[in-house]
Amino acid sequence: MEEQELIVNYENVKRRVAAACLRAGRRPEDVTVVAVSKTKPFAMIRELAAHGVQDFGENYVQELASKADEQAADTAAKPVRWHFIGHLQTNKVKQVIGRAALIHSVDSVHLAQALSKEAEKRGIACVDILIEINIGQEASKSGVPEDAAEELVKAAAALPHLCVRGLMCIAPFVDDPEENRQHFKRMAQLRGRLQALALPNAPLTELSMGMTGDFEVAVEEGATLVRVGTAIFGARDYTVK
Ligand SMILES: *Cc1c(COP(=O)(O)O)cnc(C)c1O
Repeated sequence: MEEQELIVNYENVKRRVAAACLRAGRRPEDVTVVAVSKTKPFAMIRELAAHGVQDFGENYVQELASKADEQAADTAAKPVRWHFIGHLQTNKVKQVIGRAALIHSVDSVHLAQALSKEAEKRGIACVDILIEINIGQEASKSGVPEDAAEELVKAAAALPHLCVRGLMCIAPFVDDPEENRQHFKRMAQLRGRLQALALPNAPLTELSMGMTGDFEVAVEEGATLVRVGTAIFGARDYTVK
């Protein structure tokens, strides 16, 4: 991909987000585009960062760790915020804490406990997390069912070193993004109900939902974080990873 193309793609996504905000009566600055850079080389991240992009998403622990370390070692590179968006195993929390600004994919009490414990060990007051909801009730997806969300949010918020910033979902892969509007609506309603509990350490201001195929519908339904890979970086080639 030509360097310029990357910037053009990113700006197109921003424009589409702004248009969706306008349709929904929302402010574009209330939606963060997380550029999902998995499988893509650090050089592309660096290029976008130089353009002012701050938020990048990775979903493999090892890849997050190596890119974050490369970024930190590159004194001329602009600082970025890493979002961990993949499935996280408890034995890998050490590699993610301290590197990721936000962990989108907490889906069990066990994982929440491991994160809080590791934060304590390192003297980190508070790790920002989202609770992942399996909103489409798909067997192939991680996340807790909608009706188990309250219990997990309460358990996570009660841990000393976690802050529950919001909810995340990976909606089903569909041809028509309108099919996912119902799921995004339910996510927003669920967030509202949980927010009304006014739990300490659970501000629940964030809704991470929407990807390349459906981010505009997600923004119309209240997403504050959209995770966009393909529309920015082009198709992924897993064979060269
Ligand atoms: C890969 C990935 C994305 C981005 O997907 P695109 O369809 O390429 O935009 C978003 N969220 C998660 C959790 C992912 O793994």
